[in-house]
Amino acid sequence: MPIPQNLQIIRKTIPQNIEMVVVTKTMPVEKLQIAYASGERSFGENRVQELVQKQALLPTDIRWHLIGHLQSNKVKFIAPFVHLIHSVDSLKLLQEIDHQAKKCNRVISCLLQFHIAEEETKFGLNEEEASAMMEALSKIHLPNICLSGVMGMATFTDDSELVHREFRHLKHIFDWLKSDYFADNPSFKEISMGMSGDYEIGIQEGATIVRIGTLIFGERLKN
Ligand SMILES: *Cc1c(COP(=O)(O)O)cnc(C)c1O
Repeated sequence: MPIPQNLQIIRKTIPQNIEMVVVTKTMPVEKLQIAYASGERSFGENRVQELVQKQALLPTDIRWHLIGHLQSNKVKFIAPFVHLIHSVDSLKLLQEIDHQAKKCNRVISCLLQFHIAEEETKFGLNEEEASAMMEALSKIHLPNICLSGVMGMATFTDDSELVHREFRHLKHIFDWLKSDYFADNPSFKEISMGMSGDYEIGIQEGATIVRIGTLIFGERLKN
């Protein structure tokens, strides 16, 4: 099915108060232009270089989301324009984002990425690491970042009960952080969970942001 029709069908399944990030990684600029023309404004990429290249070629009212792992030495390339970084998993990275945001005279919104899946991956915090990070953050001032919530990826599986449990876990982490550290901070409100295969479960479990690629554009060739 052509992209605009796919988009309309998926859009109808997503409540108005939930942000859909159109995941455009590996897709040529023409496909992003089609999504833009049908009204989409939130696009997500997982690689810095690709994000920077596409941003330069597309309209400036797009909100660009960095959804993949971010190395500290690449923050400077996206700091001038990135809307939300979903993948913060260390204090060092947060400090570098603050540093680069300051140079651009911006405040950059960030989500803490948690490791909630059964699958082994290098990326994402656990609760203990997040506690330590919050402790450290209480002693330093990072005025150019805005911690806005959490992100996580569930196990890639047909076992929907497992996905429910993993997303519920992320919601619990969010609730814990909110009550213990961000009770007075209305900006801490986002739960980014759910992709093509599991976004409906994400929404059922409290997602405020879903990130969808394959359902809109079809299978990616690489990546
Ligand atoms: C690729 C990717 C997505 C989108 O995945 P689809 O299954 O194509 O919808 C969402 N989140 C992250 C972090 C990704 O890397």
